Amino acid sequence: MTSRMCLRQLFFSTETPGKDDIVLHSFEECLSNKKLQALNFRHVEEESNKYAGKVIWQSVGGRLIKINPMYPPMREGEIDASFDLPYTRVPHPRYKGKTIPAYEMIRHSVNLHRGCFGGCAFCTISAHQGKFISSRSKESIMKEVRKVCEMDDFKGYISDLGGPSANMYAMGGYDRSICERCVRPSCLHPKPCPNLNNDHSKLLDIYRSVDSLPEVKKSFIGSGVRYDLAMAPNKSEKTNSVNSRYVKELIQSHVSGRLKVAPEHTSEVVLNCMRKPTFALFRKFKSIFDRVNRECGLRQQIIPYFISSHPACHEVDMAELAAITKDLDFHLEQVQDFTPTPMTLATEIYYTGFHPYTGEKVYTAKTESEKQRQRQFFFWYKPEARAGIERELRLLHRSDLIDRLYSRSNKNEDRSRQTSAGSRAGAVSGKTREEKGRKRKKR
Ligand code: SF4
Repeated sequence: MTSRMCLRQLFFSTETPGKDDIVLHSFEECLSNKKLQALNFRHVEEESNKYAGKVIWQSVGGRLIKINPMYPPMREGEIDASFDLPYTRVPHPRYKGKTIPAYEMIRHSVNLHRGCFGGCAFCTISAHQGKFISSRSKESIMKEVRKVCEMDDFKGYISDLGGPSANMYAMGGYDRSICERCVRPSCLHPKPCPNLNNDHSKLLDIYRSVDSLPEVKKSFIGSGVRYDLAMAPNKSEKTNSVNSRYVKELIQSHVSGRLKVAPEHTSEVVLNCMRKPTFALFRKFKSIFDRVNRECGLRQQIIPYFISSHPACHEVDMAELAAITKDLDFHLEQVQDFTPTPMTLATEIYYTGFHPYTGEKVYTAKTESEKQRQRQFFFWYKPEARAGIERELRLLHRSDLIDRLYSRSNKNEDRSRQTSAGSRAGAVSGKTREEKGRKRKKR
């Protein structure tokens, strides 16, 4: 253990700030002026996303809090050592053999890496795992896969080969010295960084090596695929071709019936505030997904996640989301209403009303009724929702959307529809259409 690893992360200190340190607006100043709180957040996020951040200080009640920089990302040997510890892979004995739904999902899964460079505004992963990816060696991953294969209840299916974002394995900048000076909170937003090496070949090699084990019938990628990362054009044609191959193999061989992906919204303004890519990329990915399914004779579903009441989202954005997802034949069933989560950009906007990077005011739906008016658009297709939605659309002067949602002549009205589960939590409990069909038959 290095001496750096013994440093406390955050504590009251009697020292004084150094000349290169950052001193934030005091806690008391932030209480009386929320814009200062928003400005503070920018420093905290930028420093925690740097390879070597600065020390940060804040005065609270006349005392100084010192925040030491994040630890550097783990090297391969370090992350391997942490995964190679003799874990039992079973729940704590205090559960006394009870079924734990979350455990059922992960018991045959293997984590490939830590960290995420997506920088989504509502997500805390980069705040606690960092922006730089620490990847396990292939040997360490295969050792764990073999252990899973030896489990008594293993039937040949690896339920997830993943990570915080499933396809960031072994990725980072071409020129690491540029990354070490970088302050961008996301390597993908507003546009993929030209220094980012998005080559998926090492990840494909892991998938193929796992699938080649005689005990493994199939390995799945449960969720968290960043399709924008796999589809981002690279300077190298070889990498572009590997990445197309990755997308095809993912759809063809690693989806357990439903692939969960996260466009999160359809409005470009909201997506920009979320630090997510344009919705056009989701349309493109969906068309690839549909084509590969047709070519391979598969009947798999794509499950898009969406969020309502995110900062910058107005009711009309949700109304348009309903019409757009209807046109794509989705019936959203389980969706997520924005919930503030500490240490995220979205939560700072929610609390302060300002965007920490621009200083501009940003609207967020906060009251129960504002949030409900947004959420209702996910369920436009439920008979009991129709009257309220039509009333709301008239108030918004968007009667055109009433026609789009309810007109009998709509070309999509009679098509068979996909049933979609939207929220991370909800998707876990969501039933597939096949499961629901089976239940109906039984009754
Ligand atoms: S890849 Fe680009 S955005 Fe990401 S850390 Fe490196 S320089 Fe910064």
